[in-house]
Amino acid sequence: MANNIQAIRGMHDVLPEQTPLWQYAEQNIRDVLGAYGYSEIRLPIVEKTELFKRSIGEVTDIVEKEMYTFDDRNGDSLTLRPEGTAGCLRACLEHGLLHNQVHRLWYYGAMYRHERPQKGRYRQFFQLGVETYGMAGPDIDAELILLMDRLWKKLGIRDKVRLELNSLGTIAERGIYRERLVNYFEGHLDQLDEDSLRRLKTNPLRILDTKNPAMKSVVANAPELMDFLGEESLQHFKAITTILDDLGIAYKLNTRLVRGLDYYSKTVFEWVTDELGSQGTVCAGGRYDGLIEQLGGKPNHAVGFAMGIERLLALMETLDNIKLTSPVDVYMIRVGEIAEQQGLRFAETIRNEIPNLKLQVNCGGGSFKSQFKKADKSGAQLAIILGDDEADRGEVAIKSLRNNQQEQQNMSQQQAIEFMIEHGFN
Ligand code: ATP
Ligand code: MG
Repeated sequence: MANNIQAIRGMHDVLPEQTPLWQYAEQNIRDVLGAYGYSEIRLPIVEKTELFKRSIGEVTDIVEKEMYTFDDRNGDSLTLRPEGTAGCLRACLEHGLLHNQVHRLWYYGAMYRHERPQKGRYRQFFQLGVETYGMAGPDIDAELILLMDRLWKKLGIRDKVRLELNSLGTIAERGIYRERLVNYFEGHLDQLDEDSLRRLKTNPLRILDTKNPAMKSVVANAPELMDFLGEESLQHFKAITTILDDLGIAYKLNTRLVRGLDYYSKTVFEWVTDELGSQGTVCAGGRYDGLIEQLGGKPNHAVGFAMGIERLLALMETLDNIKLTSPVDVYMIRVGEIAEQQGLRFAETIRNEIPNLKLQVNCGGGSFKSQFKKADKSGAQLAIILGDDEADRGEVAIKSLRNNQQEQQNMSQQQAIEFMIEHGFN
């Protein structure tokens, strides 16, 4: 017998029993973005490889070893998007959306990275990406933080995440710091691991981001980027913290927060949790003013973030009081030939009269007993019951599936519809 084909490692199905939680999160995300006046943009999953190389940076983990890159039939090198910032900016440049305009955009979808799969780290994962363009001031950086603060609260997980903030300064300021940092690490080569020795040549700031406990002290004693920031960068950072203080949003300054991507400038932030083991960053972002020029646009401003949906859901799963809606409100039981025929017609009438009701009709026959079992399993609150006797009289019965109330018998179809509306099924 042939082996069954299985999904690709690190790429997961979301089964029907899991989708209510996804939908609940997605709906809340949309509502919060709506409350701040953000617009959705939909982007291709595949882009030219060059786009990611140029924007994310050749010496980042993503471009060095995580991209799904392939030649298409024309021989062009394409890549499954590992993140959305590059594609979003590409689209906005291509369609001229950045000329004297401001934008507040979001996208939602699958991203692809060839990483070692583990809890909270997958090869296909979903992100909400939020990107804003054309705004230089610290207020928009703060708005992105406020927006997430509101979402955490709405989802009931505010106390499970905390905000860490840093500033990476301008590219010039970072350049000076980089030299000093390299000097420092060169004086401590014996304490660097293999990864860090490599990064010392390519991307020394990333050494600060190491997860290797053995390097804790050498990193702790490294010079701090904050000390190299110029007046303007410092003021920008200060202004953000003032807004956050004013609105009562706590944060921690984390001078080791450098982010994996090259394109950040000034503000960087992460929302982190202690509840998901080592995959503790749920949402991360910052300002990346330099990237627009790097991709061929006129100098402009950009701030954004991305949130990992699987990590968000893992956090939500630690709650026990989320009320998820069942895909079915009412289940129709039909036993007998006339009942089956009449039931289908009645179901369409119900759907006309109560358009928001989720009504599932039993198909494929079965005894009352087996149909009741299916009704119960469907998650429905109510069963509408049609046997041939009822059908003969044009009547139905209604039974609650979730409490012990008496079955309501001998109802006309119209009465049944009124009953459902009265009981809030609309
Ligand atoms: P990490 O340090 O965990 O690898 P990253 O810096 O690579 O994260 P970003 O590129 O900033 O992550 O992506 C933003 C968010 O997307 C992360 O904070 C995380 O929630 C999520 N994310 C990133 N990579 C993965 C992955 N492989 N699987 C699941 N979620 C991911
Ligand atoms: Mg990563």
